[in-house]
Amino acid sequence: MTRTNTIERLKDRKNAVILAHNYQRPEIQDIADFVGDSLGLSQKASKTDADVIVFCGVDFMAETAAILNPDKKVLIPDLGAICPMAQQLTTEELLEAKRKYPNADVVLYINTLAEDKAHADCICTSANAAQIVESMDSDLILFGPDDNLAHYVRQRTNKKIISIPEYGLCPTHHQITGADLSDARKRHPEAKLVVHPECTPEIQEVADHIASTSGMVRYCKASAGKEFLIGTEVGLLHRLKKEIPGKRFYPLSKYAVCPHMKMHTLEKVERALETEEPEVTVRKGVADKAREAMGRMLELSR
Ligand code: SF4
Repeated sequence: MTRTNTIERLKDRKNAVILAHNYQRPEIQDIADFVGDSLGLSQKASKTDADVIVFCGVDFMAETAAILNPDKKVLIPDLGAICPMAQQLTTEELLEAKRKYPNADVVLYINTLAEDKAHADCICTSANAAQIVESMDSDLILFGPDDNLAHYVRQRTNKKIISIPEYGLCPTHHQITGADLSDARKRHPEAKLVVHPECTPEIQEVADHIASTSGMVRYCKASAGKEFLIGTEVGLLHRLKKEIPGKRFYPLSKYAVCPHMKMHTLEKVERALETEEPEVTVRKGVADKAREAMGRMLELSR
């Protein structure tokens, strides 16, 4: 029996669902019940009737699934899959900013730890960040931890946005430079440039389209273009090539690899299903408050 068959059998036996982020290894995407961006995964996690959720993504994503499903078992195949961006905002820094700006609303990117989410007015993803900020009551917004996403939102709202921390970033997206773009354009001069808002302002400003990963897939499907330079983690290329076989996709940088997203393997998924470990849990008081901020986002994103 192949490993894929064993995983299928275990999934049936345990009434489990496998959710995978668009940056996962191709073989993980291929066995998942749902592959998507943070917003899509949160929506799926909030609606599933499975007893067990195997979350192939990074720590804050599995925590989010646990927050939304206090009665279900959430497993992450490798506990080492930790998002470095989510670590960049400390709760102390967040509380300090709230004390300094008591009239501000706090909008936190989903790429934050549960302890921070518990202090937010609303959560956002890259798919809905501008819409969420616009819907807040205050004209002053504390926004974190990604300063590149904050730049993207500033271009789309008149609200004053203060980044917390001042220079939060995703190392995988921030390393994509103008030199990468010049090289890629020389090789593929006809290709449209589609990028994620975690890329630097320099890259965002020359893009044909900026979107979350699932938004990038939708754009490439609908576009009349036949070739695309993809400015995000390389894992999305697998989904693009699979779902849109008639078009060509090239990474803006082949080095845009998130090592944390790549930690999950089929072997680890199988082991997680077999042993029902490692389990991700969030303390009740924290989860209850974080769920309110998550719920507000899901309500606004319907
Ligand atoms: S790609 Fe960036 S934001 Fe996403 S998990 Fe990796 S480090 Fe975190």
